[in-house]
Amino acid sequence: MDLTLCLTHACNLRCGYCYAGPKFPRQMEWETARKAIGFALEHTAEQARLTGREAKCQLGFFGGEPLMEWDTLRRATDHALALAETTGVRLVLTVTTNMTLLDAPKAGWLRERGFHVGLSLDGNAAMHDTLRRTAGGAPSHARCAPALEFFKGPEATGEVIVVLDPENISFLADSFEWLVERDIRRVSFNPNHTAYWSDAALAEWRAQYTRVAEIYVDTYRRGTPWHINVFDGKIRVRINGGYRPCDRCGFGETEVAVSAAGWFYPCERLVGDDTDTALRIGHVDSGFDAAARGRILASRGNTVAECATCPARDRCANWCGCVNYAATGFINRVPGLVCFHEKLCIDTADRAASILFEERNPAFLAKYYGRLLQDEWPEAAPMVTNDVS
Ligand code: SF4
Ligand code: SF4
Repeated sequence: MDLTLCLTHACNLRCGYCYAGPKFPRQMEWETARKAIGFALEHTAEQARLTGREAKCQLGFFGGEPLMEWDTLRRATDHALALAETTGVRLVLTVTTNMTLLDAPKAGWLRERGFHVGLSLDGNAAMHDTLRRTAGGAPSHARCAPALEFFKGPEATGEVIVVLDPENISFLADSFEWLVERDIRRVSFNPNHTAYWSDAALAEWRAQYTRVAEIYVDTYRRGTPWHINVFDGKIRVRINGGYRPCDRCGFGETEVAVSAAGWFYPCERLVGDDTDTALRIGHVDSGFDAAARGRILASRGNTVAECATCPARDRCANWCGCVNYAATGFINRVPGLVCFHEKLCIDTADRAASILFEERNPAFLAKYYGRLLQDEWPEAAPMVTNDVS
């Protein structure tokens, strides 16, 4: 079971698109963290015994800004590592941070423990400062970007998370280039699904992805392939013939998030200000609430009728419960913006991958095929143009 601890509702930034809810000073007590870790590791070990699968737990730290609770993060990490050892669980550690408090000693401490670090930075100053501002409205790029230094190069364990919004989308390709110049090799694009995207903004998004794909293809031609979540994922899914059950997130089943006050949620993106009781599935003091969890698990998936016959359905992530809920109010109803973006990602990734496959690009073939080099690039399903709304 994967566990995310939302260590605090406080943050030293006030990003315009923040989905973590209002900011207020409530921090996770050590006892809450200790109980949550014990619950998740015991559950993981028990499930492994029952199913014969590997006992693996991804422990993530989230907020607000989790580095504001550095002492709790350190104590929880070392406790979890010790407990994982005794319970025979393989622990994977992650943290998502806005980088404002990330200095060399902290980066070194995280690196020593093998953390995968999610770096919330929207790219160059023009893009980042559009929406990532302090409580007083000041730009934050100059405070965040220096920590990139600790995560550059092929072996880096950090991934820059870029939030795409109608207000900043026109800076995207320049921002990606800026990150490439700084040797930041792993980049995630994370759309703001709750924003209003006008037709002009959607057209701009399409144009920016085309430019990003050109830069992405060039990184392969130079022999240093970059990772972009939305392109790499769609290429892999094409090679695999569609999403597999293990590609889908664990949403309340094999994944749980814990609020600072100890409530269980199916995903950290749904914790917000910790007041939506319809989304709670238990508490660290009492374990899972079977009825509430059952309701959430039963409502997963996607019930939009058009999707059943869509040619892109096997490569479409229309089942993300937290995105669906945030945008439509229903866990099982995919929003039109996801439909637009999924098609855009598939289309853009296929064009980039086809170029690299035709060129027999060694970095591309090694990354996606390894020793299983095939002669044929798998047929793609034709794209459709109708968006669901
Ligand atoms: S840094 Fe993260 S938690 Fe803080 S305001 Fe920005 S998006 Fe929200
Ligand atoms: S691309 Fe759109 S219509 Fe097709 S499966 Fe995805 S959400 Fe449904």
